[in-house]
Amino acid sequence: MYKCATPVRMPAREIHSGGDSSGRTRMLIKDKMMAPKDYKRILVTAALPYANGPVHIGHLAGCYLPADIYVRYQRAQKRDIKFVGGSDEHGVPITIRAMKEGITPQQVVDKYHALIKDSLAQMHISFDIYSRTSNKVHHDTASAFFKRLYDDGLFEEKETEQYYDEQAKTFLADRYIIGTCPVCGNPNAYGDQCERCGSSLSPEMLIEPHSALSDAVPVKKKTKHWYFPLQNYEPWLKEWIIEGHKEWKNNVYGQCKSWLDNGLQPRAMTRDSNWGIKVPLPDADGKVLYVWFDAPIGYISATKELTDQWDDYWCKDDTKLVHFIGKDNIVFHCIIFPAMLKAHGNFVLPDNVPANEFLNIEGDKVSTSRNWAVWVNDYLQDFPDQQDTLRYVLCANAPETKDNDFTWKDFQDRNNSELVNIFGNFVNRAFVLMHKLCNGKVPALHKDTLDEKDAAILNDIKESKTKVESLLEQYKFRDALFEVIDLARKGNKYMQEKEPWIVAKRLSENPKAQELIDNCLHICLQLTANLAVLINPFLPTTAKKMLHMMKVVDKILDWENAGKTNLLSVGYSLREPQLLFRKIEDAEISLQVEKLNKNKIVTEAEKQKEAGDGIGSTDQPIIKSTIQYDDFAKLDLKVGTITAAEKVAKADKLLKLEVDLGFEKRTIVSGIAQHFTAEEIVGKQVVIVANLAPRKMKGIESNGMILMAEDKAGKLHFVNPDKKIDEGSGVS
Ligand SMILES: [Zn+2]
Repeated sequence: MYKCATPVRMPAREIHSGGDSSGRTRMLIKDKMMAPKDYKRILVTAALPYANGPVHIGHLAGCYLPADIYVRYQRAQKRDIKFVGGSDEHGVPITIRAMKEGITPQQVVDKYHALIKDSLAQMHISFDIYSRTSNKVHHDTASAFFKRLYDDGLFEEKETEQYYDEQAKTFLADRYIIGTCPVCGNPNAYGDQCERCGSSLSPEMLIEPHSALSDAVPVKKKTKHWYFPLQNYEPWLKEWIIEGHKEWKNNVYGQCKSWLDNGLQPRAMTRDSNWGIKVPLPDADGKVLYVWFDAPIGYISATKELTDQWDDYWCKDDTKLVHFIGKDNIVFHCIIFPAMLKAHGNFVLPDNVPANEFLNIEGDKVSTSRNWAVWVNDYLQDFPDQQDTLRYVLCANAPETKDNDFTWKDFQDRNNSELVNIFGNFVNRAFVLMHKLCNGKVPALHKDTLDEKDAAILNDIKESKTKVESLLEQYKFRDALFEVIDLARKGNKYMQEKEPWIVAKRLSENPKAQELIDNCLHICLQLTANLAVLINPFLPTTAKKMLHMMKVVDKILDWENAGKTNLLSVGYSLREPQLLFRKIEDAEISLQVEKLNKNKIVTEAEKQKEAGDGIGSTDQPIIKSTIQYDDFAKLDLKVGTITAAEKVAKADKLLKLEVDLGFEKRTIVSGIAQHFTAEEIVGKQVVIVANLAPRKMKGIESNGMILMAEDKAGKLHFVNPDKKIDEGSGVS
């Protein structure tokens, strides 16, 4: 591995003192004004997507779009910046996908790497390089990184008992083991993490673990692995993050703090598998690097592929490293990877990790297994040449501070009311009126006839640059975009007040009329040019169209031009306007909503639950078809006590119950409100299906199902032990 001459230092913080000659935005950090470090170059990374499926709009909103906006803005600022990314091709989901599809892992990654790369390129995510972790340069880089830590004696070698699937004849890496989360009761928690509650888990913590490969109950078997002693870096991490990076976003800072407060544990950096980067040590057959060890090193490998000067970006202290990720990757990018970099030495550490929260779809969490997602490749097919509309909506509604919801209705509304009616309409009117009232040329500005309104809008143009720039530097992309649209809104209002089309009717009465018209349209056209500069990082295709209409070169999009009111020369003739955005019709939206619902994979549990909603109304055969004991054994029935009950608003059948299972409390929504009042059932013992997949009803997540018996009259009765017994007792 290349060794840099400059040792890594923690980014120094300087107290802001007076002027900011660099022109960079000052950031308000807590109560102190601090100047950003004087960086010479910026390296931006965006999370490596797993090459086991296409990307959906949640991925775009989470990291690719904000990263791209930031990079385009910095490029317009003429800063030295590189934007690297690539596919993560070693994840366990890839081997699972290969097994399911009956192909090799390599075939899986080849297919999805190509698809992801294409989708991102078509969405105009402007990577300088989009690489992949199956490349040789990455294997070499990650191996050398591991070897360096090994040679420095940093790993703890430990033989432990790990889960082994005797049917599939393989050790089960964390993700191969599925069981019930001890924290929230999610029956599909993975051996390393519960994706519902976000708890970090180990396979030992799972209740009733089983293999994701064969469904067999795994057995313990001895295996040797190399552990990275994360706990040794805890004091340093605390100083670096808790003290040194108070400006990080609250969600990021808070998650880091909670990890650090809970204490760090040694983490195995190798796994038993045949798919991945071989552990570069003798007697390590069948062992590969842990995917979260190798994946972030992929950023380094990709930079190496991109440029011979890669070490400038990774090893020089005056590089600003920014990781764009989704919230599920915070611990890896803020704690584990920095600790690895620190242990290795010679590398810069991230200056910021502006992670976003999740984007839900139509009120429900994105789930690739249930196919509840809007896939980018589908969007591109259904809305050709409308990348900017999606970029706009995802940014305007970005989950920057909390989970947000994408709905097709909102997509339509924002397109039609903000892009078409405000931005597009303003630009179009300015061009149409200029052709009609000013001979298709940029009219002159007559300083003597300028009034307060003219002065105000000219000032708005100048101010919007400062505002947008400041927000972009602070990774507040949603607010920055709002400012751009707000400038267009102000432009519309100004034009409406000035009414040049009315003034034009009084040309003979008012000797100053033409001057008034000229002033208005001169200003509107300069404002249009500013909109092009400001919108360019967000909607690059739109900016390009505007350049064409204004007959100006790309250079006008340089950020230094923002705020200037002389971007278009007087007398310069401009083209006819072209449509920037098109209206999206209701029919297109209902089609998308239909498609989403049609493609949704309804899980067995949901089907059961839906059938359960219709209790008493179905003609079922006396006995359903025969099942094997194994089928029955999959059900986890437990005894619990109802500790609270209340009616669910706007649902006459539903009661929301709190059920105490001894080891945890559950919220269960049950369709029994027409049979029982909330008061009469509190204290009752019930039998519940404890491992039923969660389901949302009227916005409440139901975690389990209460067993009820139904008599011939259609009346419901609880099924419960004949006398009170311990909560959590199993039923079989
Ligand atoms: Zn959980």
